[in-house]
Amino acid sequence: MTSTARVAEPLAAQALDYLNLDNLFTTEELALRDRVRAFVDERVRPNIADWYATATFPRELVKEFAALGLLGMHLKGYGCAGRSAVEYGIAAMELEAGDSGIRTFVSVQGSLAMSAIYKFGSEEQKQHWLPGMAAGDLIGCFGLTEPTAGSDPANMVTEAVRDGDGWVLNGAKRWIGLATIADVAIIWAKTADGIRGFIVPTSTPGFTATAIEPKLSMRASIQCDISLVDIRLPGDAVLPGATGLKGPFSCLNEARYGIMWGAMGAARDSYETFLRYALERRQFEQPIASFQLTQQKLVDMVLEIQKGVLVALQTGRLKDAGTLRPEQISFGKLNNVREAIAICRTARTILGGNGITLDYSPLRHADNLESVRTYEGTDEIHTLIIGRAITGIPAFG
Ligand SMILES: Cc1cc2nc3c(=O)[nH]c(=O)nc-3n(C[C@H](O)[C@H](O)[C@H](O)COP(=O)(O)OP(=O)(O)OC[C@H]3O[C@@H](n4cnc5c(N)ncnc54)[C@H](O)[C@@H]3O)c2cc1C
Repeated sequence: MTSTARVAEPLAAQALDYLNLDNLFTTEELALRDRVRAFVDERVRPNIADWYATATFPRELVKEFAALGLLGMHLKGYGCAGRSAVEYGIAAMELEAGDSGIRTFVSVQGSLAMSAIYKFGSEEQKQHWLPGMAAGDLIGCFGLTEPTAGSDPANMVTEAVRDGDGWVLNGAKRWIGLATIADVAIIWAKTADGIRGFIVPTSTPGFTATAIEPKLSMRASIQCDISLVDIRLPGDAVLPGATGLKGPFSCLNEARYGIMWGAMGAARDSYETFLRYALERRQFEQPIASFQLTQQKLVDMVLEIQKGVLVALQTGRLKDAGTLRPEQISFGKLNNVREAIAICRTARTILGGNGITLDYSPLRHADNLESVRTYEGTDEIHTLIIGRAITGIPAFG
């Protein structure tokens, strides 16, 4: 036995769950975590470096996500699993320990596209779309951002005008996850009554999606430009329950909530990679984990990961209790993504040169988190939301 192993063994449990946070989860929650973790170990980890290198989204996983009940998993009925917010968060954390792009699929499908139909759709719309989406037979996307309207979607130019009983849509969307493989797009557009959401089958003439590439982040995931030219839709394509930005924002809040958990998954995976490496790798005739400077890094990571999981869990319990406020989601999204990216970058340093290869996860996670800190509200926008909540003064512009 090497001295490295003697150091590693007694610390293992404490190193992974320092504050015994597992005690805060129910048996069911832990069982779900273990199922998703096993799926990620078996189906994502062995392949993710290839998918990332070749910028491939593994479409073959979609039916497997569905079989695990992960698509629209916190929605009730319509073939959805009806799990709690905490369970949804746990699944997001485990998926993102594999890769942010994998978790992003589940977020776009469930929290954005399905959630828009679930919250604001008519009964007919829900019956028509949700079961197929929950089963992974239909893929959805969510088009809010535009080439000239990102943080400020109120300034969107995409417009829907009445045409007899129906509608005609014109405009453009940018950064829309999954659009090239989607069967249906939720498109947010200006109307005479304010911003409304439309259910647009992607086979509709005038709908074109083009993948944005090459990307330096989220490479195992698809984001697209969408062009909308004279898209003709029936009158019942509009989501009846949403007028104004409250509609898309309430879907974004679902996704932002999952992100605060997901980011901690990427951070945990980076930390564990770092810890294993630091215990094995020797320089100056000692494991690099024995240097004070390395231990400082490890300790800072443990502190922030454990705190981040506590933030996510408290937010999830508030969500399950029905008392969560949107600005509380901003707190978790801002904090956890910011801490996660710092953790992943620090983990990369300890891997030395090996850390810039795809053999190790931390730099891939950090690169992905560049996207995660931008989408679903940038760091700056969440700072402004929290600032407004604590001062009562909006400082957006
Ligand atoms: C990988 C990825 C996936 C995405 N998926 C989707 C999707 O599926 N659907 C969708 O609709 N959109 C999606 N987006 C778009 C995403 O939500 C936007 O990129 C994000 O809202 C920021 O908009 P922007 O890129 O236009 O940046 P901008 O809004 O132009 O912001 C540029 C910079 O200015 C800062 N800024 C803006 N306003 C202020 C202010 N008032 N005060 C201080 N600073 C400010 C921002 O914080 C940022 O740093 C995705 C983006 C990425 C990168």
